[in-house]
Amino acid sequence: MDTAATTTAPPGAANAAADPSVTAAAASPPPPPPPPGASNALLEQFTNNPYFSAGFGLIGVTAGLAVLKQGAVHGVTFARRRLLVTLEIPSKDQSYAWFLQWMSAQGARRNAHQLAVETSFVRRDNGSVQSNFSLVPGPGRHYIRYDGAWFQVERQRERNMIDLKSGTPWETITLTTLSRDRQLFAKMLEAAKGAALAKEEGKTVVYTSYGPEWRPFGNPRKRRPVASVVLSGGIAEDIVNDVRAFLTGGKWYHDRGIPYRRGYLLYGPPGSGKTSFIQALAGELEYNICVMNLSERGMTDDRLSHLLNHAPPRSIILLEDVDAAFINRAQTDKQGFQSMVTFSGLLNSLDGVTSSEERIIFMTTNHVSRLDPALIRPGRVDVKVLLDDANADQARQMFLRFFVGETKLADEFVQAVDFAANRVSPAQLQGHFVVNRDSACTAVDNARNLVAVAGRE
Ligand code: ADP
Repeated sequence: MDTAATTTAPPGAANAAADPSVTAAAASPPPPPPPPGASNALLEQFTNNPYFSAGFGLIGVTAGLAVLKQGAVHGVTFARRRLLVTLEIPSKDQSYAWFLQWMSAQGARRNAHQLAVETSFVRRDNGSVQSNFSLVPGPGRHYIRYDGAWFQVERQRERNMIDLKSGTPWETITLTTLSRDRQLFAKMLEAAKGAALAKEEGKTVVYTSYGPEWRPFGNPRKRRPVASVVLSGGIAEDIVNDVRAFLTGGKWYHDRGIPYRRGYLLYGPPGSGKTSFIQALAGELEYNICVMNLSERGMTDDRLSHLLNHAPPRSIILLEDVDAAFINRAQTDKQGFQSMVTFSGLLNSLDGVTSSEERIIFMTTNHVSRLDPALIRPGRVDVKVLLDDANADQARQMFLRFFVGETKLADEFVQAVDFAANRVSPAQLQGHFVVNRDSACTAVDNARNLVAVAGRE
């Protein structure tokens, strides 16, 4: 009976029926556990359901493919690891430039579709500057064959990273080859290095400062023989001997805890051979030259100090025209940029040279009287040498270098110019001999041209 049912229902059941938010569990007792075999029946029902089995199959296929893909990736990575070997050369490393140049010489340039230009400057003795462009493989992937093996060369340029030292984009070259050819890496780098050094052999590399680092300026220059710079008396030999003695005396300095450095000042009128002699000296010692311009835009005390302490090995540091940097404290260069180097900064930089390697510092000036005595005191400048206008003996020697064996005409020339009364620089003499190079007699006859411009203070 309906009424009986109503009376036997538990309290609240009517509410539950009315309120759908009340859960079924609250409304009725939990169902009894399924009898054994019920789950099999459920499974059977699912498997017999064509929609369900199709979905399950799809999932299975997708999962299988994912596993295969993963396996393939792992397989490739594994094979790469086992079969291929890579070598990375960052742009910071010295072999980077060597390798690029070498690679373009190998013919990679011909096959490459992406090229990059590298410009270098050569400053000739007459002061003119010639620029050379060399094309090297640009960023991207290249392939080269070396010693029977193939190499993939990938040059990558980082967009977001720059080398803080040089301010240039960070680059890397990654070489990849088969594992069995790994020993060719070393051989290849040796070849690249050998080719680069062969270019420098018998030559003097001139470095200039670029930001806080030294970079080669143009191609290495042919060494200049010391004998080609004619100095009066035995000045040239004295300086060469002094530097040689310094270079062999490292232990003496170290034993006494004295910084291993020596400073030289060459002073005298323009064109007397100061720069030429330092170049010749570097050639004689098989050293390179680091030319420092104190008035350079952006040069600061810190940078100067860093550069002096981090010059390339076997190099002479040359501070040209040191007087010019401090005539006025707010020195400006031709473009109007102010040099930030202070006089005390220069003194501190010179004193603070603590490199464990030897440091040879040459300074030149046309106006020694303008130099602050603090700059040229012993310890900062140990040897001061005057390179003056030509004397009769120098002029005679230079004449004979141009007109070999013409001793009589050399004497006539020296008499005609009268070097005791006239001031003629070796540079002027050189110019005169070049102009009259076809005939020693004409060089003598035209001596009066030299006298006409001589007589300057
Ligand atoms: P400085 O540095 O004293 O101004 P440079 O060394 O620049 O002089 O010389 C300028 C030019 O004159 C160079 O081409 C150099 O060959 C020549 N010259 C100068 N002095 C001499 C010298 N004593 N002997 C031979 N050539 C010289």
